[in-house]
Amino acid sequence: MNYSDNKYATLFNKQKTNQFLVGNTSYKERIGKLKRLKHALEVSYKQELREALYKDFKKPHLETDLTEIYPVIDEIKFVTKNLKSWLERQKVETPLALLGSSSFIINEPKGVCLIISPWNYPINLTFGPLVSAIAGGNTVILKPSEMTPNTSKVMAKIVAELFEENEIALVEGEVEVSQELLKLPFNHIFFTGSPAVGKIVMKAASEHLTSVTLELGGKSPTIIDDGSHLEKAVKRIIYGKFTNAGQTCIAPDYVLLKSSLKSEFIELFKTKVLEFYSENPETSDSYCRIVNRKHFDRLVSHLEETKTNKGSIVSGGNYNATDNFIEPTLVLDSPEDSKLMQEEIFGPILPIKTYETIEEAVSYVNSKEKPLALYIFSKSKKTINYVLQNTRAGGTCINHNLLQFLNHNLPFGGSNNSGIGKSHGIFGFQEFTNQRSVLKQHTLGAVDLLTPPYNNWKQKLVDLTLKWF
Ligand code: NAD
Repeated sequence: MNYSDNKYATLFNKQKTNQFLVGNTSYKERIGKLKRLKHALEVSYKQELREALYKDFKKPHLETDLTEIYPVIDEIKFVTKNLKSWLERQKVETPLALLGSSSFIINEPKGVCLIISPWNYPINLTFGPLVSAIAGGNTVILKPSEMTPNTSKVMAKIVAELFEENEIALVEGEVEVSQELLKLPFNHIFFTGSPAVGKIVMKAASEHLTSVTLELGGKSPTIIDDGSHLEKAVKRIIYGKFTNAGQTCIAPDYVLLKSSLKSEFIELFKTKVLEFYSENPETSDSYCRIVNRKHFDRLVSHLEETKTNKGSIVSGGNYNATDNFIEPTLVLDSPEDSKLMQEEIFGPILPIKTYETIEEAVSYVNSKEKPLALYIFSKSKKTINYVLQNTRAGGTCINHNLLQFLNHNLPFGGSNNSGIGKSHGIFGFQEFTNQRSVLKQHTLGAVDLLTPPYNNWKQKLVDLTLKWF
């Protein structure tokens, strides 16, 4: 097949030609590249990135620092500390039957990789995986989302300044660009986005048996049982839900609340939203906007459906199309067939559903796809263990939310509908490397004694091997 009939194929071929040069770099050279990226993020381009994200959806500078720049810098520091040992040959034991040989594992680069990222944390979710890909010794084509064009432009500048395009290149453009890229025989595709597009990516990857990491989304539940410290729980949930105006893959999507806590929860919600974002969140400098009109309209249709379809808005509910503002909103009694309870919300609307027993809450969670995150607020070890043992999720945070993303010793990712494969730390490095097994024969091996022609003596040797080794 000819892959050289457009500019993406040309770029791909350049990287393919260069892959061994990049793959044979030492850990020191790779760390050098990561340090240059770190410097661009925390010094030379920090202000430009902040301003770009503010232009894209009024993201507060502090949130850009904390949720976009810091995680990538922290990932670089972690990789810098550990890369030498990750790249060392790992010796493994030799079974007796293979006497005379030795074995080891090499973490070799996958080769030419594609990273497709979403708009909601464009820096973090483009450069975060890039850190793992560089650590693994790969060449990379990055394709950020078309929905945050100002941020993509700055990221493109950074990449062009730091790297030759036959090693790392960033291409901007609409969905069609991703579709063209997906036709190419990459060695690995790292995709972050929705489960629906994840399926398209996996289908395209199957054409070339390209390995994939799919970091997807879904409805992440938060369970609050009656033993929890409610005030602290509500404060943390509001932080987790309304950071980035709810446009976070691991934001609490809905709350399952012990029914006796309902009125207290509503009052606390109102108090804390007031504390965080003032009486008029539209004028708050700490609250961003919905990324574009399409997503704004989608969320407004959820609010309108709630008004006409029995559910009730107990706090918030205002919106303003001028700059895609939607107020932090709490919804009660949303019917099961509503869009709020069926689709990933990905915005500042929090439905709560009450339950009587923890078994009921768990069975509700299990009636849906496996979530990317599941949160439990409880003081009871028994309840926490019950929920952990009787549900499935990509990750869990107990008595807080979002924080599981920040520990590089934890694998980050989903399970089935919420994702395939993991990122961060050694887990991200492993996605971008092939664990190549190597066995070296030093002396005469047992198998050398068993080659044809077979005879009784050799049969006895096999019998002994089966019995004793
Ligand atoms: P999306 O799936 O619409 O788009 C993601 C990327 O895929 C974008 O770069 C887009 O240009 C590209 N794309 C879109 N349609 C495509 C197609 N038909 N063919 C090829 N490429 C295509 O997701 P989004 O709206 O950017 O982000 C929101 C989703 O991402 C949510 O579901 C959220 O939960 C998920 N997400 C997951 C994580 C995670 O780490 N697991 C992080 C952030 C967001």
